[in-house]
Amino acid sequence: MAKVPVTVAYGDGIGPEIMEATLHVLDKAGAELEIEEIVVGKSLYENGFSSGIKPEAWDSLRRTKVFLKAPITTPQGGGMKSLNVTIRKTLGLYANVRPCISYAPYVRTKHPYVDLVIIRENEEDLYAGIEYRQTQEVTQALKLISRPGSEKIIRYAFEYTKHRGRKKLTCFTKDNIMKISDGLFHQVFDEIAQDYPEIQTEHMIVDIGMARLADTPEYFDAVVVPNLYGDIVSDIAAQLTGSVGLAGSSNLGDHGAMFEAIHGSAPDIAGQGVANPSGLLLGAVLMLDHIDQGQVAERIRNAWHKTIEDGIHTGDIFNEVKSKEKVGTKAFAQAVVDRLGEEPDSLRRTHYQADAFSMPVYTRKPKTKKELVGVDVFFDNEDADVEAFAVQLQALTGDSFQLALISNRGVKVWPDGFPETFCTDHWRVRLMGASDGAVVSHQDVAQLLQRMADAGLDFIQTEHLYHFDGERGYSLGQGQ
Ligand code: NAD
Repeated sequence: MAKVPVTVAYGDGIGPEIMEATLHVLDKAGAELEIEEIVVGKSLYENGFSSGIKPEAWDSLRRTKVFLKAPITTPQGGGMKSLNVTIRKTLGLYANVRPCISYAPYVRTKHPYVDLVIIRENEEDLYAGIEYRQTQEVTQALKLISRPGSEKIIRYAFEYTKHRGRKKLTCFTKDNIMKISDGLFHQVFDEIAQDYPEIQTEHMIVDIGMARLADTPEYFDAVVVPNLYGDIVSDIAAQLTGSVGLAGSSNLGDHGAMFEAIHGSAPDIAGQGVANPSGLLLGAVLMLDHIDQGQVAERIRNAWHKTIEDGIHTGDIFNEVKSKEKVGTKAFAQAVVDRLGEEPDSLRRTHYQADAFSMPVYTRKPKTKKELVGVDVFFDNEDADVEAFAVQLQALTGDSFQLALISNRGVKVWPDGFPETFCTDHWRVRLMGASDGAVVSHQDVAQLLQRMADAGLDFIQTEHLYHFDGERGYSLGQGQ
């Protein structure tokens, strides 16, 4: 087997201890790796690299396209960027895959039958990081959900479900409220489901979906979710299995992949030699699957299960009932090495299948007819009397527009607003084409804004209102 180049970062806190233990097991199991080490994390943040990574390190990541990363300590406070978010976005790692499995009765858990995988969209949603303070009182974050982003993660989730022998794929969104953005994710899920009739599918509103997952995790098999919900639900799912110290995860894209433990750098126990290396080890095992060394992955998984079954446990999972020996990081790794070639008796045995799957290239849908039918203009206005504001705006609409609506934090306040509605200094004014369905031009919008500027109004944002093949591409104001 040819050696595969892999970039490795030892990280911060317990990172170096668990990475050393992990690489020891990989080596003894026969993994063929050519390791390139890079430094990321705390020391770089402290030396002025606000993203926690040096420019040279990208060369290694671009060359190997495979990154095994120990946890790092993210400094608190402004100006520092999350290294994980930077790496995911720069390398286009659109899928975060986190298997969550209970190892009862050997590891104590309230939910002994959990065996599910969370597949989280990794690049879009509120994590686009586009945020603004727009007025004295109001801030805004942009939630971006795209068709290519949704198609990639959902197609990946179906392929994963099919090739990893799972039966059911559940999608969580909040499309009863976010009808356009989460609605697109749900719609793409329903479209792609048509290509996989053998997979059982269902959609749940994210709040009840998470509640059911926390209560009855064994009901779920694979779950696909947009970024923010995925961040939350993947931690819930990992916690249900009894320890966040046991889960690894992969971040996959068209041009690279990153593998890690899901826990952090645990500074409270760093340097003591007591950390559980299992999360990083199981992350590294996912890496071996990815680089076509699945047989080595299988040997390690089986030996690791046997170690857990034999009651050789680190302090975080030690229990009076099933644990036989409390060991540190190194001794645990050695116990796994000693069991290479053995299989567990009752925990799941794994048998390697060379069933890698490839993802189709995204193809753009044919263009629809896009028509500009109006504009939402947002204003900073601290002392607005709504009726007087409406009269002032009506005088500025010109021949091209009519004033349709004024809202404050999404609640309609004109026409026919309620005096009880609390208003901030942030107003949305909807201006539609002068007659129903009339199309307006960019020039019309520019001239409208010029009139507003001349009148001394403080507009802070505009959003164009489009129809796509006659279908509305904007949400209606409440009460519209
Ligand atoms: P943490 O996961 O580091 O620790 C939470 C608790 O779990 C601690 O009590 C810790 O001792 C314990 N723990 C974690 N991993 C363990 C292991 N392998 N064995 C035994 N016990 C373990 O979370 P935190 O304390 O909130 O964060 C510490 C630092 O890690 C922060 O700077 C945070 O930003 C960072 N972090 C990094 C990553 C990453 O690099 N992917 C992920 C999460 C947090």
